[in-house]
Amino acid sequence: MAFPEGVKYAVVGAGIHGLSTAYHLAASLRASGRGSGEDVLIIDKTAIAAGASGIACGVVRNNYFQPAMRELMAQCVEVWESDPKAYSYHPVGYMQISPESMHEDVGTIYEQQKAIGYESTFIEGEADSMTYMKGLFDDWQAKGITSVLHEKKGGYANNTASMYGLATKAEAEGVRILTGVEVTGFEFASDGGAVTAIQTDKGKINCEYVVIATGPWVSRFWDFLDLPRSISIKGRDGQQHDDVAMWKYWCLEEGTLGVDPNMHKTNDGAMPPVLHVDSNAPLYADEDGSLITEEMWGIYYKPDFNFGGIQGGAAPYVVDQNPYEVAIDPYGPDSPDFIVGDNFINMWCSALAHCQKRFEGQIRYYKNTDPSGGLGCFTPDSFPVFDVFRENAYVIADSNHGYKMIGVGKLVAQEIMGESSKLLEPFRFSRYAEGKLHPVSSSPFPWS
Ligand SMILES: Cc1cc2nc3c(=O)[nH]c(=O)nc-3n(C[C@H](O)[C@H](O)[C@H](O)COP(=O)(O)OP(=O)(O)OC[C@H]3O[C@@H](n4cnc5c(N)ncnc54)[C@H](O)[C@@H]3O)c2cc1C
Repeated sequence: MAFPEGVKYAVVGAGIHGLSTAYHLAASLRASGRGSGEDVLIIDKTAIAAGASGIACGVVRNNYFQPAMRELMAQCVEVWESDPKAYSYHPVGYMQISPESMHEDVGTIYEQQKAIGYESTFIEGEADSMTYMKGLFDDWQAKGITSVLHEKKGGYANNTASMYGLATKAEAEGVRILTGVEVTGFEFASDGGAVTAIQTDKGKINCEYVVIATGPWVSRFWDFLDLPRSISIKGRDGQQHDDVAMWKYWCLEEGTLGVDPNMHKTNDGAMPPVLHVDSNAPLYADEDGSLITEEMWGIYYKPDFNFGGIQGGAAPYVVDQNPYEVAIDPYGPDSPDFIVGDNFINMWCSALAHCQKRFEGQIRYYKNTDPSGGLGCFTPDSFPVFDVFRENAYVIADSNHGYKMIGVGKLVAQEIMGESSKLLEPFRFSRYAEGKLHPVSSSPFPWS
C-alpha cells in the first residue's frame, strides 16, 4: 500500500478494539451512505495481534460484580455469538467457583444476570457445590467452596485467530491496515484543540478523527494528547483524593500444562466450561506438600488446543517500575522480562491439583519454554475509560478487561457516527471527578 497522505478516520492499533471499531465503522459508513471502509485506516507499529490481544488467554465471561460491566459484557457475548467461526469462539460456558467470603457478591451477580436475561445457574452451600462439581468432574476435590455460578454462555476464543477473523471482515469492508508504521505524536489545530494529523516514523498522515486503541501502550498516547498523568478522584466515600496516577501496570501470569487437552473433559465427554476458582483454603505444593499460601488465591483454566494443553493463569501482581518507561513498549524486545517464574508455576499447578485429582503429579509437563503472560495497563479504578478527548480523539482504554470486549468497537463506531451509547456512558473519564465510581468486589483479581 502506498503511504497515505490523509484519511478521514485513523485508528491506531490492530488489536481487538482497533479492528472491531474499524470494521463496524466501515460497515456503518456503508450502510448509512455516509462513506465506506476506504475512509478508515488502521495503523499498527508491528502487526495485527501484536499486542495484548494476540497473547490473551481469550476468556469470555459475564461474571462481573459491577452492573455496568455485566451489561456491556452481555452485548459483547452477543457479538462473539454472531459469528463463532470467524471469531474462533468456543461457547463452552464459564464457572465462578468461590469460597464463603465471595458468596454474597456472586449471589448478587446471579440475581442481576437473571434480570438481564443472561442464562446462569447458581449453586449454594458446600455440600451442594461439591455435588454439582462432581456431577461435571468426578475427580473434583477443592475444599471450602460454598457457591458455584455456572454461566451457560461465554467461554473462550483463540486469540490470534479471532484477530485475523476481525481483520478479514474489516478488509472486506474496504478498511486498509498499515503495519510496521509507528505513531510518534499528533498535530493539533491552531487553537490547540482537535487532532489534525498523525505523526509517524514514516511521515505524516492528515486525519479528521482518530481512534486510539493501543492497549498497554495507552499512556504514551495519553502523553501525546497532553492529558494529565495524575488526576483527582472523588472516592466512593465522598472524599477527594488528589494526585492519583492515571495509569498503573500489573503483570498477568499465565501458563500452559503441556498435556493432552482431552484429559480435561467433563464426565460425559464434553469440552468443559472455563473454570475460575477462588479459594481461601490453605494451598499446598503438589510436589512436596509444603504450604504455598493461607491467603486468598485464585486460578482460571481451560483445555486449549491452540496453546497445546491446559492453559490458564492466576492473580496478577503490580509491576513496581516507572510505568512511563515500561509503557514505551511493553511487548517489545527491550521490555523488561515479565515471563512467569517458578512461584507461579508451583502455585498454579498445585492449585490445579487442589481442584482436580487428574492434575496431581502433572507439574512436570508445564511448558516452561513458552513465554507466557504479559502486561496490562490499568486505570485508577481498574475499569475502562471509553471517551473522546480534544474533540476528535476517541480513547479506548479497556484497563485490561478487553479481549472479551469485542462489542465495544461496535458501540464506539456507533458513537463516532453520532449516536451515543448508554452501555459506554458509565465509562467516561468524568466519573473520576464526579465520584461515579463502579462498586468494588471481594475477588482477589483486579478485573472482577
Ligand atoms: C497475558 C494476558 C492475558 C489476558 N487474557 C484475557 C482474557 O482471557 N480475556 C480478556 O477479556 N482479556 C484478557 N486480557 C486483556 C486483553 O488482552 C486486553 O485488554 C486487550 O487485548 C487490549 O486490546 P487493545 O486492542 O486495546 O490492545 P492490543 O491488543 O494491545 O493492541 C494494541 C496495538 O497497538 C499497537 N501500537 C502500540 N503503540 C503503537 C504506536 N506508537 N504506533 C502504532 N501502533 C501502536 C501495538 O502494536 C498493538 O498491536 C489479557 C491480557 C494479557 C496481557
